[in-house]
Amino acid sequence: MPSCAFRVPNRVRSARVPWMLLAFLLTLSQVVAPASVLAQSAPRCAFEASYPIGTVLELEATPHLWISASGGAPRWAGDTRALAGVAVRWDSRCIMDLAFLLRMTKGDPYLSAGLVKLGEPIYLAKWETNEAEPILLHVQSITDVELFGINVGNYTGFVLERDEWQRRFGFNTDTLRRGQLAQVAPPGTRASPPPGPPPPRPAPVPAAPAPRYPLVDPPTDDVGSWCLRANPSCSRDPWWVEWNELQSSELVEYRFAPGLVSERRLIEAILLLWQWPEGKDLLRDGGASGVIIITVSADILPESFASYNSALKRIRVSRRFSETPTWMLADVLAHELKHASDDRGGLYETLTFAGCITTEQRAYAVEARYLRWIQSRFRRPPDSQPDRNQAQLGGL
Ligand SMILES: [Zn+2]
Repeated sequence: MPSCAFRVPNRVRSARVPWMLLAFLLTLSQVVAPASVLAQSAPRCAFEASYPIGTVLELEATPHLWISASGGAPRWAGDTRALAGVAVRWDSRCIMDLAFLLRMTKGDPYLSAGLVKLGEPIYLAKWETNEAEPILLHVQSITDVELFGINVGNYTGFVLERDEWQRRFGFNTDTLRRGQLAQVAPPGTRASPPPGPPPPRPAPVPAAPAPRYPLVDPPTDDVGSWCLRANPSCSRDPWWVEWNELQSSELVEYRFAPGLVSERRLIEAILLLWQWPEGKDLLRDGGASGVIIITVSADILPESFASYNSALKRIRVSRRFSETPTWMLADVLAHELKHASDDRGGLYETLTFAGCITTEQRAYAVEARYLRWIQSRFRRPPDSQPDRNQAQLGGL
C-alpha cells in the first residue's frame, strides 16, 4: 500500500504551494484588471522554451492558470483543493495569449469536484480549500471545456450528470451558490482539433477499446455472491475465510469496467468491490485509465501488500497476499484503485511529503468506508460468529 517516497529531495521540498497566493489567484473574479501586477512581471510563454515542472502559465486578461506537469502537457487549475500536494513554481511563470493556448497540448485538468452538467449547461464545481462547499460556475462554451483539457477521451471522467455528481460529492446542486466562470475563448472560437460532441449518457462507451482478454460479467446483483462456482472455498468457507483457490495469472477484462485488466485470481475481489457503490466508481475510473492489476513475487514488494505505479497505470499485488480472504484483498484493491482514480483526477502526488500524505489519507479513507460497508452488509465484524444465514456464499 505505501506508494510514496518519503525521502524527498530538497529541490522538490522547496517547491511547496504558497496557499494564500494560490487561493488569491484562483478566486480572482472577472473584474480583475486585464493586466494584473503579476501578469506584468512574467515573460510571454514560448514553445521553444523549456519550463520546469510546476511552471504557471497564465492566460492573459483572465484568471485562468495552467500548471506544467510531468507528462509535458500543462494542466488547467480548477481550484485550490485540486492543487493540494501539487508542486507549483510561482518563481517560474509566463503569460500566454489565446492563440498560444489553442496550439498548446493540454493535459487533464486539476479538478477537485469535476464539472457537473445541469441540463445542457456545464458548471465547474469550484471548491476552494477554505470553503465548506463548492460554488457552481457556468462554463461559457464547449470550446472552453475543451481548452480546460477535456476531450472525448476523458469527458466521462470529468463531466458528470447531476444525479451522479450529487451522489459522488454529497451536495444538492440546487442549494449551491452559482456564478459565471470567466470566459476563455470568445464565441465562435474553434479549438484545434475541433471539440468532439459530448458522448451520450447513459450509453455504452463506444470509444472503449476492443477487449483483448476474456470478459468477466458482473455479479447478478449487489447483495448476492461474488464467489466463483469452480472455487471450492465458496461452498466450504464462511464469507470472511473465503479465498480464491483458482490462482491463475491469466489476464481477463471486465464487461462492467471497460479497460480494466487483471489476473484471473483477482476476479472475486473485483466482483466484491463492484457490489459496493463506491467500488463501482473506483473500478470504472480504473478502467477508463487502462489500469492493469497483476501480482508479483514478494521480493518485489518486500514491505507492502500492493502498490500503484502512475507511469505504468499498474497495480501490483504481492503474491504473498493474493491468497488471503477475498474481502481483505478487495480492501487492498480499493486502496490502490483510489490512487489510480486520484491519478486520473490529477490528485495523485508522491513527489512531495505533503502530497504523499494527502494521497495516502484519501486511500485509507476509502478503506475505512469499504470496511464500514462490508461490516454493515454482514452485520457482524469478521472476528465474531457469523450469521448462519449468510455464512455460506454459494457460487456464481
Ligand atoms: Zn497507498
